[in-house]
Amino acid sequence: MEKVKLTIVGAGPAGIATAVEAKEAGLNEIVILEKTDHICDTMVRLYHEGKRVDPFFMKVKVKPIGKLSIDTMSREQFLDFMKEVVEKYSLDIRFRHEVNKIKKKNDCFEIHAGKEAIFEAPIVVVAIGIFGRPVKPGYKIPKAISDKVFFGIPAKPLENKKILVVGGGNTAAEAACFLCEKNEVFLSYRRPKFFRLNPINLCAIEDKCKQGSIKLMMNTDIEGLEPQDDQVCVHFKDGQKMYFDAIDYCLGGSSPQAFLRSIGVEVEGKKPKVSEDGETNVKGLFLVGDLVVKKGTIMGAFNSAKRTVDGILKKYGDRYALLT
Ligand SMILES: Cc1cc2nc3c(=O)[nH]c(=O)nc-3n(C[C@H](O)[C@H](O)[C@H](O)COP(=O)(O)OP(=O)(O)OC[C@H]3O[C@@H](n4cnc5c(N)ncnc54)[C@H](O)[C@@H]3O)c2cc1C
Repeated sequence: MEKVKLTIVGAGPAGIATAVEAKEAGLNEIVILEKTDHICDTMVRLYHEGKRVDPFFMKVKVKPIGKLSIDTMSREQFLDFMKEVVEKYSLDIRFRHEVNKIKKKNDCFEIHAGKEAIFEAPIVVVAIGIFGRPVKPGYKIPKAISDKVFFGIPAKPLENKKILVVGGGNTAAEAACFLCEKNEVFLSYRRPKFFRLNPINLCAIEDKCKQGSIKLMMNTDIEGLEPQDDQVCVHFKDGQKMYFDAIDYCLGGSSPQAFLRSIGVEVEGKKPKVSEDGETNVKGLFLVGDLVVKKGTIMGAFNSAKRTVDGILKKYGDRYALLT
């Protein structure tokens, strides 16, 4: 059992920013537990190569309030920037430490990471995001086509395929624009108009449609999928049937409710209940980043980390050194 003062779960933008703000505020004995072997897994796994990282991703201009902020840059530049931050602040990140249990014992938390590692800390900040659990459609996906169905950019590049991208947000727009470089792409959205796209993505989609490299299927809703020879037969609710080589669902992520409930966190609707600084009903347990912000963005994650560290300082700062 290793004892620290502050345990942060997840080394994405929110987790790293929390450690940075805490160190800047003079807090010590901080450890970050990350389930993969690298930082920022959402960017590594779900952002396509060369993706433009926009600070105003969800049409909201977020003004930086803490130490970290970004301008428009590529995925690779963003990852390099975050690596530099980790080095500059000498952050103690323990990789391959997937936290599967957090238990409050008296005034302290016992944090179980993997089979054996157990940490003890009086303050825990959970920064695990929502993209570990992509939103899936309500209908069943037959096992026979599971190798043709993706939730985000496929790890193995697709070429010369007929692909249906499903969704109407920025991630769907970016996936369609990326995949259409080497494939025939259709984009199915159940609404008549896009309303969540930022201006850059809206422009990009319009251009690709004019060029004929993306075919828009607005007002379409899928009823189910069926294997058909080496393809996927898509049944639409209006009775239409179409065949594709691959389907890419870009429907966003979902909050890890079961995990949060297992710690005793109250959940209201789809979001956990937190105070302004991210503290939950379990005293000393804070949530940051996509878990709590209304519209998930990197700048939103950075700012929520700053608000949380300010809250920790206000509530626990005067006795931080004494906390065990
Ligand atoms: C395809 C796509 C494109 C996007 N483009 C943009 C953009 O251009 N601009 C923008 O501002 N936003 C963009 N976003 C949104 C942005 O990525 C998120 O808002 C941001 O990543 C949230 O940061 P986070 O730290 O809260 O969570 P995440 O980035 O999801 O980080 C969570 C970290 O926690 C780790 N983790 C998860 N579970 C555990 C566990 N049990 N134990 C230990 N570690 C764990 C994960 O491995 C991960 O490293 C995009 C999202 C997607 C999916």
